[in-house]
Amino acid sequence: MDNYYKLFLEKQKELNLLRSLKTIEQSKDNIITINNRPYIDFSSNDYLSLADHVYVKQKSIEFTEKYGTSASASRLLSGNFEYHVLLEDKIAQLKKKETGLIFGSGFIANTSVIPALMQRHDVIFADKLVHASIIDGIILAACKFYRYDHNDMTHLEMLLKKERSHYKNVLIITESVFSMDGDIAPVDQLVELKKKYNALLYIDEAHATGIFGQTGAGIVEQYGLSEEVDIIMGTFGKALGSYGAYLTLADDLKQYLINRARGFIFSTSLPPGVIGACLAAIELLEKEPERRAQLLQKSNDLRIKLKNAGLEVTGESQIIPVLLHDTAKVIEVSRKMLEAGFYILPIRPPTVREGMARIRLSIVYNHSAETLNKMLELLLKTV
Ligand SMILES: *Cc1c(COP(=O)(O)O)cnc(C)c1O
Repeated sequence: MDNYYKLFLEKQKELNLLRSLKTIEQSKDNIITINNRPYIDFSSNDYLSLADHVYVKQKSIEFTEKYGTSASASRLLSGNFEYHVLLEDKIAQLKKKETGLIFGSGFIANTSVIPALMQRHDVIFADKLVHASIIDGIILAACKFYRYDHNDMTHLEMLLKKERSHYKNVLIITESVFSMDGDIAPVDQLVELKKKYNALLYIDEAHATGIFGQTGAGIVEQYGLSEEVDIIMGTFGKALGSYGAYLTLADDLKQYLINRARGFIFSTSLPPGVIGACLAAIELLEKEPERRAQLLQKSNDLRIKLKNAGLEVTGESQIIPVLLHDTAKVIEVSRKMLEAGFYILPIRPPTVREGMARIRLSIVYNHSAETLNKMLELLLKTV
């Protein structure tokens, strides 16, 4: 290997930042097996425990039987099937938007839609903690961009006031539930600012879809502001237990993106088995609403217990970060939790800022009260 790459790896190791892959043999009921050893998984985004749900699997198999294993082309060629259209209708209905547009993944969606929407003379305002795929989308847009302090609407308005008039099109972009902090964006204030400064508002609901809101549509639904948010984006790979991503939006914007978003135009559309699973998961949001209710209840209980024990915990969702700040400490705590059979991984730079290392507990529907108590007991002894 070239010297530069080797040196990079050595440096990462020294800094406790080296990452490597672990191979999982099986995942069943949110228990994963590695080297024949079971671990209770606290790292997955399968929040509603749907990835192994009988009905989801059955519908995926049904679609594969009926339509085959691949869509075999991009949508604009011969890869636009009725099942794609059906899923776009269903997700739009759930999100209470005019229409939907599906993508290969959330990463593809963000990195192709943002540069399609914003050109060189435009400007983007993004929360400081947005996901890497949003950052990459902004970089590809090659327009001016500003990052406002996390969930700080005063800072965002200050920037808008100062910069708005210099640009034609303006995009405000944020997540609704933040992936590493588990906290929630003030959608009502974002909508006010978007109106006041004539901007487009784009909200990534990757970690909120399926969990928040009356029908499980997400945080935007919880605020009752679906109509006001121009683009509600999310993925099928997290709480919906499948793969792929979507935007829900107005039809004219959709037609524009079909003509402009490169990750839509130049990529094979999602395979039938995946679409079947997505459709089944959306159905289950309606049929089994107790999944999201119980998940949030459990998560809130655990967060309160962690706080009461004196730990630094943030957020209001099923993602519970425990801030330990020091990278070496986080690695040590993670190691001990792994030893005891809890799959809890260290979250460290560059995923989070320097000095903000943490363990991140990702709570899922299948975690029993007993499991959560055992995990808590050990964690309190370990930190
Ligand atoms: C996971 C995630 C994505 C990427 O979605 P994938 O479908 O996994 O590619 C985008 N945005 C946010 C906020 C995410 O957490």
